[in-house]
Amino acid sequence: MITFLSGGTGTPKLMRGYRTLIADHEMTVIVNTAEDMWFSGSHLSPDIDTVMYLFAGLLDTDRWWGIQDDTTITSEFLERIGCPEPVTLGDRDRAVNIARAEMLRSGITLTEATQHLSSRLQCDATILPMCDTEVTTCIQSDGTEMHFQEYWVGHRGAVTIDAVIRRCSETPIATEQVLKAIRDADAVIIGPSNPVTSISPILECEGVKEALKDQFVIVISPFIGDIPVSGPAAELMMAWDMAPNGQSTYDLYREFTDVFVQDIRDPKPIEGAIRLDTLMTDKEAALALAENIQQIIDTQKDHRDS
Ligand code: GDP
Repeated sequence: MITFLSGGTGTPKLMRGYRTLIADHEMTVIVNTAEDMWFSGSHLSPDIDTVMYLFAGLLDTDRWWGIQDDTTITSEFLERIGCPEPVTLGDRDRAVNIARAEMLRSGITLTEATQHLSSRLQCDATILPMCDTEVTTCIQSDGTEMHFQEYWVGHRGAVTIDAVIRRCSETPIATEQVLKAIRDADAVIIGPSNPVTSISPILECEGVKEALKDQFVIVISPFIGDIPVSGPAAELMMAWDMAPNGQSTYDLYREFTDVFVQDIRDPKPIEGAIRLDTLMTDKEAALALAENIQQIIDTQKDHRDS
């Protein structure tokens, strides 16, 4: 079993390649939930849904979120009657959000709700929210604090970031299922996801870093040189006083990382890192990267077993 730590774009791209290599039920994904949001009575969990739709064969892989060929009738009509929402949701996507909200309101945990939804969507991978309590990444800009979705979707990332704040009413604690998934895996892969908004929220859950220290952990950089392949990772790293590059990503994860992968195009070598082509422009490129990573894991496993 391979366990991934994932956000909603870079690591899902890698898992799309991995699906050709190993069976879905051999994969467990621990997913960031710090971009979750309640609105219109429903519960948005964007990274969980991207991963779930990927394994259910429903994901819109042009945008890396939402369901392919979904319609937006409800969203458009809400706007027409003066109730615009913070995120334009597809109709089928909304159904999942409504179902999850109903389950949460009935008193079950996010882990249980995700399990029910995964099973109903015939998703064979195990998808685990990082914790069962609410954590929210907020962006502080010019004295105003906003939800990450408002920063990224509402303002399209076009505001200065003074600080990244994680809001929670109680300390996030990794679930037993999360810790077991790390412990029992052949290896843990931290895919090329945003270090500040996707991976760090998972690492901040009590128990995760300690569990990773006892595992074989391979990390793939989301940066090529000082530019992320997509998204606001550079601005967010700078808000943490870190250079936006692979070196800083490695430094952030160093205490539990066994192998750090930097891209072959990266102009500056990182000491101790290995180089692979990490640019997953299509499914074939993702498969090639997955094969290279799996080879590292297999070699390490042979070495450990001998
Ligand atoms: P989010 O939840 O949508 O922010 O998605 P993630 O955090 O999972 O992924 C965003 C990160 O993926 C960005 O920082 C990108 O640089 C990285 N990324 C996207 N595509 C690729 C790729 O093909 N190769 C690499 N190395 N990184 C990628």
